[in-house]
Amino acid sequence: MDKDAMITYLIGELKKENLELHDLIVPEELEKKQRLLRALFNTRKPMAASTQFLTIQDLYLQVRKGERGIVQLNTLRPIPQDDQIYIWKGDITKLEVDAIVNAANKTLLGCMKPLHDCVDNAIHTYAGVQLRQSCYELILEQGYEEPVGMAKITPAYNLPSAFVIHTVGPKIENQPTQIDEDLLAKCYLSVLALAEKNNIESIAIPCISTGDFNFPKQKAATIAIQTVKDFIKDSTTVKKVIFNVFDDDNLSIYQELLTK
Ligand code: ADP
Repeated sequence: MDKDAMITYLIGELKKENLELHDLIVPEELEKKQRLLRALFNTRKPMAASTQFLTIQDLYLQVRKGERGIVQLNTLRPIPQDDQIYIWKGDITKLEVDAIVNAANKTLLGCMKPLHDCVDNAIHTYAGVQLRQSCYELILEQGYEEPVGMAKITPAYNLPSAFVIHTVGPKIENQPTQIDEDLLAKCYLSVLALAEKNNIESIAIPCISTGDFNFPKQKAATIAIQTVKDFIKDSTTVKKVIFNVFDDDNLSIYQELLTK
């Protein structure tokens, strides 16, 4: 089965399981079909999927992984000042590390806005539908939505990393309060504590809350760096932390704070 056939199959199955998609017109062009598939993955409710669906989805996502490229940890260099700390600009879904962190929302179900450009959307898209199902089961078991500042771990399914650690950052309306700052630090701490509990050595963390959740980037970076440094100096498990920036603002801020 080539990529086109896999996409066509997956779109067909997603249409079948949702009556609202019955009249959806599938474009001919491969690029457009691929975008439509991502949008359908994004909006799919948590539910089980057939073994055949999962097999073909996994094959498709493995092909995508090859096309998009994997970034291995041994190709990155730590900062000169600290051999446990890295700054890396790029898409976290390409990183092959023990765990990547997701800046999730309180449902923990992933971003359901089709093709949205947040990290949560990217992680759920390239992990596969199993990730939403896993998160759903965690929330069902917990019995309430995920509070800000906690952390949960799941497998990473089709991502190059082994695990995803999900945390919900504080959402800022105007300026962050002391409580917001403490909650952001708590996110990093909960993530690292859970990583340690799961014997994770290398972990990549995006700039939590600095996108849609509007936390000022400079302050967020200061909190992130302080919390991570304090934690790893006493940790025998977590050995490498990658500050994963995605835009030039955060890249300069982290470089300035960590290497100057
Ligand atoms: P939040 O709602 O916590 O603010 P966002 O995803 O909107 O989460 O943004 C958090 C950070 O993740 C932002 O700095 C954003 O630029 C960055 N980001 C978005 N997509 C990716 C990605 N694919 N890989 C790494 N970081 C990303």
